[in-house]
Order: sequence, then C-alpha cells, then structure tokens
Amino acid sequence: SPRPPTAEGASPAMAQWFAAKADHPDALLFFRMGDFFELFFADAEAASEALDIALTFRGEHQGQKIPMCGVPAHSHESYLARLIRRGFRVAICEQMETPEEAKRRKAPAVRREVVRLVTPGTVTEETLLEAARPAWLLALAPGEEKLGAAWLDLSTGAFETETLAPADLHALLARLEPSEVLAPAALALPGAVETLVPRDAARRVAEAYGVGTLDGFGEYHAAEIAAAAMALGYLKATQKGANSEALAHLSRPVPRGSQGVLQMDAATRRSLEILRSERGSARDCLLGAVDRCVTAAGSRLLAARLACPLAEAAPIRARHDAVAALLAAPALRGAIRAALKGAPDMARALGRLSLDRFAPRDLAAIRDGLARATAIAEALAQAELPPLLANAAAALCPSPDPAPELARALAESLPARLDDAGIVASGYDGQLDALRRLRDDARGAIAALQLDLCQAWGVAALKIRHHQQFGYLAELPAAAGEKLLRDPPSKASGDFAPIHRQTMANGVRFTCAALAGLDRRLSEAADEASRREKLITRHLRGLCLAAAAGIARAAEALAEIDIQAAAAELASDGGWCRPEVTERPDFAIAAGRHPVVAAALARSRSGAFVPNDCDLSAGGRICLLTGPNMAGKSTFLRQNALFVVLAQAGLFIPAERARIGLTDRLFSRVGASDDLAGGRSTFMVEMAETAAILNLAGPRSLVVLDEVGRGTATWDGLAIAWAVLEALHDRTRCRTIFATHFHELTALAGKLPELQLATMRVREWRGEVVFLHSVAPGSAERSWGLHVAKLAGVPRAVLARAGQVLASLEERARGLDPLAEEMPLFARPADPAPGHPVLAALAALDLDNLSPREAQETVYHLRSLM
Ligand code: ADP
Repeated sequence: SPRPPTAEGASPAMAQWFAAKADHPDALLFFRMGDFFELFFADAEAASEALDIALTFRGEHQGQKIPMCGVPAHSHESYLARLIRRGFRVAICEQMETPEEAKRRKAPAVRREVVRLVTPGTVTEETLLEAARPAWLLALAPGEEKLGAAWLDLSTGAFETETLAPADLHALLARLEPSEVLAPAALALPGAVETLVPRDAARRVAEAYGVGTLDGFGEYHAAEIAAAAMALGYLKATQKGANSEALAHLSRPVPRGSQGVLQMDAATRRSLEILRSERGSARDCLLGAVDRCVTAAGSRLLAARLACPLAEAAPIRARHDAVAALLAAPALRGAIRAALKGAPDMARALGRLSLDRFAPRDLAAIRDGLARATAIAEALAQAELPPLLANAAAALCPSPDPAPELARALAESLPARLDDAGIVASGYDGQLDALRRLRDDARGAIAALQLDLCQAWGVAALKIRHHQQFGYLAELPAAAGEKLLRDPPSKASGDFAPIHRQTMANGVRFTCAALAGLDRRLSEAADEASRREKLITRHLRGLCLAAAAGIARAAEALAEIDIQAAAAELASDGGWCRPEVTERPDFAIAAGRHPVVAAALARSRSGAFVPNDCDLSAGGRICLLTGPNMAGKSTFLRQNALFVVLAQAGLFIPAERARIGLTDRLFSRVGASDDLAGGRSTFMVEMAETAAILNLAGPRSLVVLDEVGRGTATWDGLAIAWAVLEALHDRTRCRTIFATHFHELTALAGKLPELQLATMRVREWRGEVVFLHSVAPGSAERSWGLHVAKLAGVPRAVLARAGQVLASLEERARGLDPLAEEMPLFARPADPAPGHPVLAALAALDLDNLSPREAQETVYHLRSLM
C-alpha cells in the first residue's frame, strides 16, 4: 500500500487533523466539521467498510484525492456503538469554538481538540452499554510474585482490586469478562491495550480522589495500587479532564481478598453456562433461568454474583436470610417489586452526570430513582428485617437529598438534549420566569404589531412570520409588496417605514424599525433564557454530584433489594428451598432439578423434568455414574454443580432439600471442549483440564467430570480414567461425580471405599429404549449404544453388523478382569465390507478443499457412520 500521507502542505483544518491523528494513531479520528463528524484517509476506508457507508473524496492532498466518509453529529452515537463493538477505538475531535469566534480571532480554522477517546471499557452511553451486564475495564500490574488487578465500571462507578497468582489470571478474565484489558507489554495478553505501570502509584491514586493518603481507604498490596493507578491513568487519558469531579461517582477501590470467593476456571464457567449458553443465548443459561429482577441494576448485580459466588458462610447465610424474609412476606415483596418496576438506572445516570456527558433525562432518573427509593423505604419501615435488608433500607434515603429540588426544578416533560429549551419548570427560578414572560409578551406584541402594520401599510393580507435566517419579517403578497415598494402610504413612515428584505416568486418580505426592535428583544430574551437555563442545569448537576456518594449507595441498595425480592419470587414460584450451608464437606440434595433444562422442558411442554437426589457426603464422596448417551448424565452432573453456584451466590435451590458444605473450588468438565482455534486437540484440552483439577482441587472442592478419556483409544482412555479416579479418591479427596462409558471402572467399587455406583435408569420396551432420567444406585447392566444409534437413524444393515461385532467382542471380553496383570487388547473389528457407507463417504471427499475445521467434522461424521 502507498506510504501514509504526511502533514506537509495541508490546509489549516487538515493540519489540525494530522496533529490530532498523530496523538491518537491507533484510534479512528472523528473530526467535527459543522454538523458532521468526518473521517479521512485510512480511517475513512476502515470506517466506511465497518459501517457500510459511502466512501467519498474531498479535495486533494499531496496530489492525491483525500478519501473521506462522515456521520451526522446528532446521531453519531449509534455509529460509535457499531465501531466499538467491532473492536475499534475512536477519538472524538470537537470544534471548541464557533466559526464567528474563529473569525473574530482571525484564525484560519476553528479550534479543535480531542475531547474523548472512546474505548470498549470506558463507554457510558446507554446505547453503547448492555443494560444488564457490568462493563469492566481491567488493569493488570505485575508485582514481585503476584499480579495486581484493578477493575472498574465507569458507567456505574464500581471499582475493585485483588492480587492473584499469575496462574489464576485466566479464571479472573473468565469471571469478569472485561470489556477492555490494560496490561504492560511484558504480560503479553492478546488484545490488551499496552500501558506502563506508573511510578508513585499510590500518590496518583490519592490525587485522583483528592486525598493526601490512601491510609483511610483500606489495605492494598502494592501491585493492586499500581493496577488501580493504571486504570485511573487510562481514564485520565481517555476522558478529557477526568478530574476528581468527573470521577465523583467512582467508588474507592475496594480490595477483595480472593479468599472469600468460589474459584471457577474458564472451562467450568463455559461448561456450566452461567452467564450465557454455549451457543451464546442469554435465555438458556443460568442467569437467564433465575433472573427475576425488575431493574437493570438488579440484573447487573445478579450477573456479578453468579459470576463470583462467595466461599464464606456468614455473608452467604445473610443473603439466604434476606430471601427467606421476603419469601415469608409475599405482600411486602409484591409492594417492593411494584415500586421497583421501571425504576430508572440511577447508577449509570449518575456516571453520565459526573462525566458531564448527561442528558436532561439523567437528572430525571435521579429524581425518579430517589422517589422510588423513598417509597420502598416506607414499605420496608414497618417490617422486621434481617440485617442485609435493614442495611439496604437504611441507605435508600441519601443525605443531602437532591430529589425535592430536582422535583421542583425539572419540567414535566423534558427535551431530549441539553441544548434544547424547556428543561426547567416554570415557578422554579424567578429570573428565568421573567425572561420567559418577556419572550411571551414580545410574541403578543408581534401579534399587535401585525395589526398596526396592516393599517399603516394599507395591506390586509400582511403576515408576520419567523425565519430561521432573518428572524421576524412581514410578508406581503407579490402585488401588494410591489405597490408598497413603489408607492408607500404616508402612514408608512418613522418606526413603520418599510425596509425591503427579499422578493420571492409569490411575495415580498419587509421589516421596519419597530419590527426589528421587537425581533431583537425577543431573540435576546430567548438567548438570555437559554443561558439562564444552562446555569440552572449546571446547578442541578452540582446538587447531584454533591450527593453522589449517597445516590450511589441508594442505587446499590435498590439493586440489592431487587435481587433479594427476585430470588424470593423465584423460590416461591418454583418451590425452591433454602440450602443449608455447612462448614463440613457435605453435599446432600433431595429431588434436585436442573434450573435451565427444567424451565426449557416446561416451556416446550415435552414432558416433566425428573427430580434426582444426590448425596456425596462422607462415605460416598465419589459417585461413579454410568448410563447410555441421552439418559441425562450431563444434566445431572451440571445441575449439582449449579447448586453450588446458586447456594454460594446467595440464592435458593430448585430442590426439596439441600445441604451444601462450603466449596472453595468448583470444577465442571461436561460437554465438548474443542479448542481448535487454540490449536489443541480435544484430547489435549481434556487432559490439560484434568491436570488442572488434579493439581488444584482439594477436600473442600467439588468436581463433576464427564467421560474422562473419551478422546483417545479405548485402553488408553480407560487407563487414564482409572488412574484419575484413584487420585481423586486417595489424594484430592474432593466430592466428585464421575460419569463414564467405561463399565470396567465399576470394578473399582470394591477397592475404593468412598466410591458409590449410580446409573441412569433405562427400560427396554418392545425392543425400544426408554429413558427414565432417574438416577438409581448400581451400574448399568448393559450397554445401550446400539439402541441409541438406532434412535438416531443409523441404517439397519450397519446396526445388524454392529450387533454381530458386539457379540463377538463380548465373547472375547467375557471373564476379563481389569484388575488382572495382563489385559488383552481389543481385537480390531474386521475391515469394513465393500460398499460400506464410510468408504462411500471417503471416496466422495474433495480432500484439497477441506478447511481444518471441516476436516475434523468430517472425521466425526465418518466415525458416526462406522
Ligand atoms: P447424556 O449426558 O446422558 O447424554 P443429557 O443430560 O444430555 O444426556 O440429557 C439428554 C436429554 O434428556 C436432555 O436434552 C434433556 O432434555 C433430557 N433430560 C435429561 N435429564 C432429564 C431429567 N432429569 N428429566 C427430564 N428430562 C431430562
């Protein structure tokens, strides 16, 4: 491609563009020109493609046409949203003065400045954010042994820090799903924005909060403070003037010891489909199935809690107490939920107010949000509340409370933009009211003047109209206008002497001294009123910022109350139970149901979900589960793992009874774990994940594992599964459900005292397999693979042949004792007969045109034909 253009010989405006671009080389530059944001050169090419808008050319630079595209300034947000989602960063270069001001300065171009760098982790506009998900900006700073992490949500002001072992970084990324990551180049994280770890981090953080020292904030590790300083430094770089006022809504960085939370790695989160399903659906995941919140802030907090359940009994029980209290008080719960429904998102409105990027509706959001909070505080005042709810209730009414003044100040219906008139209610400000009266009086005076002019100029058809460009003008029909020009009546003199302005096809426009004077007074009054309104709006913003801490707490309290009421509603609707949380390695579930699968079955009306018990308490810590495909094994594994997440996040459980010993780490390996993009085979991934479990799990952990060893040859697989099971039993000593196809493993029951055997019940009925979906003690007496293959439509001939092969294999394996010294290898089945579907499929392949992905799918397909 040609060399990028240089600034040499640029016009004054283009010279500004080059200067701004040089400061922000890795962002698209939105360059304000009048009513548009324009993009030039390579930016224009990238944006026109990403946005699917026309690429045009404007003038020439260094003998080349300048590629250009543009978006209207008033609707630029939606374009921004698309670019940010596509992974671009955007620098907003604004006009800092009007063309008139520039002319007065005799400047060759209006002054422009980059006022903001829009990045995925620093957006605050509603259109750019997911209402029900936090938007974390994560900063990572390497310390001596540990990593410092700090993450903040600029839109709500949440800010937390943690130190972690480098090995836990992936788990943290999976837990937060950050919108943007800042890291020094040394960490080599793909996709991260590279930044430097600042010197004197503590001073910088203190400065951002306008305090002398961080002593009053909490105990931090040095690396945590370094990360916090990185995040704040990034805000300063991306948000023009991110001073302590703009950050008024930002909480102090709250250090979170990682001790108190349930550890889950990325694979576990994926497998349990906590915040989204494997296919990316928001409904068919745990959050989708349990979220009964009526506010976006509630859903956001719930998502954060499910992503990060606790591992300490007291705060978990406090949450359960709150759910129980609201479960027992349906009327109160109904009142709370009714009051919460439709409550505005105060946290995000406050964020936009702080950053001075607000619209009139954000002021209304604070007013209305606080009004809801007051109503809920009143409803809660009469109730006996557990501490969690009592604390939330106490935070609902902030002091100082800007709500009463906002209520008086804001007009009934608000304009969309801050520049529009009509934000302030009449009766709030005497001066503004006077200016508006002047304006209204002048309008009356214009009507009177129209009558006077009709008389003085002798034209009945005269109309005074307002024009964008000229202000008020008297319009006459063409003939009457010509006559007035030629032969004005004697009364048309002095203040009424007509002054010609414009002749059009069907009329003539005049003004006169009287009209011009009125016009001036009117526009002065309007300007003055608009200035006054701006001043009042600033004042109202100031009121909110002065109360920012209290408003933020009230917003948090509303979200907390929403969560607890929603959890109680869910428990009441679905007959969910309060889990008993113990400090022992218990796990006993009576009649548990998978929240997502059960909900999907109920929706599709395709049969009822079969509840299942599960007891992994001492004496039977490891459950070895056998049963054919489709019998419900993975559903059972996942549901029990999900119960840990739900219980420790503070929710109730879809079961009749549940006793759950506090779990420190949860591992789930269920379902496909292809990492083709990462370049590792299924088996490699499976082994890496198994290794992680054996290295990290302990007696307080809970592990659900599906078909360890499935990705390799039979005897390899069996041998590995065997050894893993023994290690889990003897060394790791964690509570485990281990689903397997290897019936040989059931022989271990005699050898491992903590091993219990369970199987998915299946019936044969008229030669067909019927899945009962219920878990029973014991092991599957026979394999049902051929039945399942038949269900799936495998051709009869293949099934018949498989039946023969199976019979002969079973013959050879009879009496085989896997504990014996020598295990005979499975003899390979005879070569497939000619005309076998696998051969036909192989012959039909176009080998030179297969992508690696297609190749793997093909192999799977071939195997399914065998
Ligand atoms: P497996 O892991 O044994 O192959 P799955 O857990 O994927 O089986 O379950 C197969 C299907 O059976 C699921 O799609 C689900 O609809 C249904 N199912 C599983 N468990 C139950 C249950 N307890 N009650 C009713 N249907 C179930």
